[in-house]
Amino acid sequence: MIKVAVVGAGYGGLRAIEHLVGNEQVSLYLFDENSYHYLQTEAYGYIAGRFDLHDVALDLNNWCHGFKYPITFIKEKVEYINSSKRSIQTASSTYDYDYLIIATGARTNFFSFIDGMDKYGYGVKKLFRSHSFRTSFEHLLYEKLENPSIQGQTINLAIGGAGLSGVEIAAEMSDVIKRHTKSIGESAKEIKVYLIDASETILPGMSPYIIENTKNRLNDLGINIMTKSFIERVDLDTVYFKDGRKLDYTFMIFTGGILANTIECDINPSLNRTNQYICDTTLRIEKNIFVIGDCCEIKDKKQNILPPTAQIAEKSAEYAASSIEKLIQNKEIQPFSANVDGIFVALGGKYAVGELFSYIKVKGYLAYYLKKLITKSYYIGLKFRLNTGFKKRTMSEGEE
Ligand SMILES: Cc1cc2nc3c(=O)[nH]c(=O)nc-3n(C[C@H](O)[C@H](O)[C@H](O)COP(=O)(O)OP(=O)(O)OC[C@H]3O[C@@H](n4cnc5c(N)ncnc54)[C@H](O)[C@@H]3O)c2cc1C
Repeated sequence: MIKVAVVGAGYGGLRAIEHLVGNEQVSLYLFDENSYHYLQTEAYGYIAGRFDLHDVALDLNNWCHGFKYPITFIKEKVEYINSSKRSIQTASSTYDYDYLIIATGARTNFFSFIDGMDKYGYGVKKLFRSHSFRTSFEHLLYEKLENPSIQGQTINLAIGGAGLSGVEIAAEMSDVIKRHTKSIGESAKEIKVYLIDASETILPGMSPYIIENTKNRLNDLGINIMTKSFIERVDLDTVYFKDGRKLDYTFMIFTGGILANTIECDINPSLNRTNQYICDTTLRIEKNIFVIGDCCEIKDKKQNILPPTAQIAEKSAEYAASSIEKLIQNKEIQPFSANVDGIFVALGGKYAVGELFSYIKVKGYLAYYLKKLITKSYYIGLKFRLNTGFKKRTMSEGEE
């Protein structure tokens, strides 16, 4: 049997497993430091209290058991790759592989030049950080309701970074605050959302249609958009900008940048400035090691680096998995051709803006519905495996 190890059970890692499972020449090993798959694309709804934990975290053991064919799940962090011996090391063991897919994603880059950001800013790329923000925010809403001494006080929620995740979080938080006004009263209106970015515009790199319509929606939601605002320093309750302005805040979420998660390796692969692996056109850093998703630099036909998205993570995973199948059969593989089918931006409640194949442009409820359809179909697929795996496991435990 050919051993294929996949490190990272995010969007890319799971798609690679789905593609390879059932191939009778292959035995599959999935590694993740967490016991669950975190649906980061839904983080905006989780932190705003719209989605629950079971909407964003799915048990990997159950998921792996949901297939007809065996997958070995190892809940451990991979710490070292020895490519000459074709082995990977965790804290407790060493595992051999024939092919390796690295799908380790990325983490929030709190930028060391922004003094205090790592200490005071919440990230959303890890479930525990999103959870910690959600809990604190919920506590604040509770206090607003229960504690007369803080009623009347303005609370500023600062979101650093107006890329896709920052915009989605700002919109969802504002929409939730609006809805809370009905239930917990006017004091919810004292929570103000600020969306801050050093760039000239929100959603840098996206099309004018997406940018303009998103801006309109954010304005309707009452969000204070602060572009061309370079954060220099953050302390416990103030954001300090390079041009001397200041903003008092109660909570700070930072989505301004990412740093890829890479693994120490004997071959020292090249990395770009966001720590992403620089791979060849077949997404390899070595003959038998593929890199996919957020952890590597992926370029389009015009050689522009593509923004890291779940969509590209899944496409690169399909490519790496099918390439491994071809290599096993001694067939040639073609370069990876990355193209983005479209983008949908969730903008609070049942509103979104989107573009498909660059000529279909939608906004409002229809865009929301299409985005929901995409995320729902992803979620339903995972949930089906999860339920099947859970049943299988509980039945076999019952038989013992
Ligand atoms: C708020 C928000 C909204 C977003 N919205 C969208 C959207 O609408 N559309 C879209 O396409 N994308 C969106 N994204 C981006 C998308 O979530 C990422 O691009 C996607 O998660 C990348 O998938 P991945 O498989 O490369 O990595 P990840 O999903 O980050 O998974 C990496 C996995 O690797 C594991 N891991 C890391 N290092 C190790 C190690 N050494 N050993 C073992 N395990 C390890 C981690 O635990 C993790 O499970 C959004 C992101 C955020 C934060």
